[in-house]
Amino acid sequence: MANFLESQVLSKALELLTKYPLCNACLGRAFSTLSRGHLNSERGIALKLALLMELDERVRDHQIKDLETLRGLLINMGTQAKELYKFYFSEEFRPKPCFICSDQLDRVKEDFKEKAIQIIRREGLKNFVLGVKLDPELKVKEIDFATKELGLHYESVKNELKREVGKFLSAEGFTPNLENPEVELIYDMKTRELEILKKREKVLITYNRFCRGTPVSSWSFEEQSSLEEAVKSKVSVPFAEFSDVRVFEDYPAVISGPGQVLRDQCFSVRPVGSVDARHRKLILSTTVIWKKYRVTVVSEKPISGAVNLLGSVYDVVVGVPSMEELYKKMEELGVTILSIDLLEAEGKYKKILESVPTHVKGI
Ligand SMILES: [Zn+2]
Repeated sequence: MANFLESQVLSKALELLTKYPLCNACLGRAFSTLSRGHLNSERGIALKLALLMELDERVRDHQIKDLETLRGLLINMGTQAKELYKFYFSEEFRPKPCFICSDQLDRVKEDFKEKAIQIIRREGLKNFVLGVKLDPELKVKEIDFATKELGLHYESVKNELKREVGKFLSAEGFTPNLENPEVELIYDMKTRELEILKKREKVLITYNRFCRGTPVSSWSFEEQSSLEEAVKSKVSVPFAEFSDVRVFEDYPAVISGPGQVLRDQCFSVRPVGSVDARHRKLILSTTVIWKKYRVTVVSEKPISGAVNLLGSVYDVVVGVPSMEELYKKMEELGVTILSIDLLEAEGKYKKILESVPTHVKGI
C-alpha cells in the first residue's frame, strides 16, 4: 500500500510489514539502536500500535477507501491487529508465522534463560559467557532480510538473545564475564540444548599473504580462501591491507587456539603465543604509522627511481603513512596501478609483538 506516513520510523515499519509478517521482537529489532531501555518486543508492539491507530483514523476519515488494501498488512502484524481485522472484515483472523523467527523467539528466550540458570547453579559456574548457535533456516532468512532491507537500525537475533538472557542472569546475580571467561554456554536454537564449552585460548599469530584476492575474513557463503579458512578459526586483526595487496611484512592477528604452525598456498602463519584478554585488547588497538609498498604500474613516461620491468611497466617503491596517500601519489604520477605489495611496516605493534607476555605452552 502507499507509503504516506510522514514519520521515517513508522514509514519504514509500514514498508516492512507490508512485505513480511513480523513478530513484535523481529520488527522491533529492525529499530534496535533507536531509543534506549526498551526490549525489542516493546519497540515492535509500539510500532504496530501506532500504525494501527494511524491506519484506523485514516479509514474513518475516508482517506483509505478500500479496506482490502489493509488485509495483508493486518495479517502481517499478527495478533496485535486481530481485533481490528475482525472488525473490518468480519471473519476469523489467521496470522502468518514471523518471516524471520517463525514465532519461536519468545519460547527460545524463556528456554535459554531456564537452562542457563539451571546449569550455572548446578555447576557453580562463575566466569562464563553466552553463545548462540542459530537455527540454520533462521540464519538464512535473517541474512536475506538484513541485506535486502537497507537503512535499518538492525540488531542480530544472536545478539538480542545473548543480551536479553545475559541481562536476566545478571539480575539473578550471575553476570557474564565478557573479559575473561573460562567457559561458554552455547544455546543451540534448533535442538534447544545448552552446551558448556571450555573457552579456547586466544593465540597471537603473525601472518603473510602471498596471493591476491584473499581476505582476512570470509564474508560470503561462497567458496573463498581467507585467513580464517587457513587457520580454521575466527580471526581478529588490529589492521589489514586490502585483499588484493600481498603482505610480506609480519602482520599480527589473534585467533582462537590452539594455533597450528601452517602454511597454506596463500598464507604463511606463525604463532607467537597465547595471550590474555588485556594484552589481546592492547594488540588489537595498535596501528601502523608508516608502510613501504611496491607498486607495479603502467606509465607512459619514465619514472625516476623506478625499476623498468618491460616496456611501459614499472615497479615503484614508496613509503607512505596510509593506503590513501599511496593512491594520491600514484595519481600524481599519472600511472595505472597493476598490483600492490606491502614490503615493510612500522608502528607500535612491533614493540608490542616483541614484549607481550605469551605462554607458548601447547603450541
Ligand atoms: Zn520473529
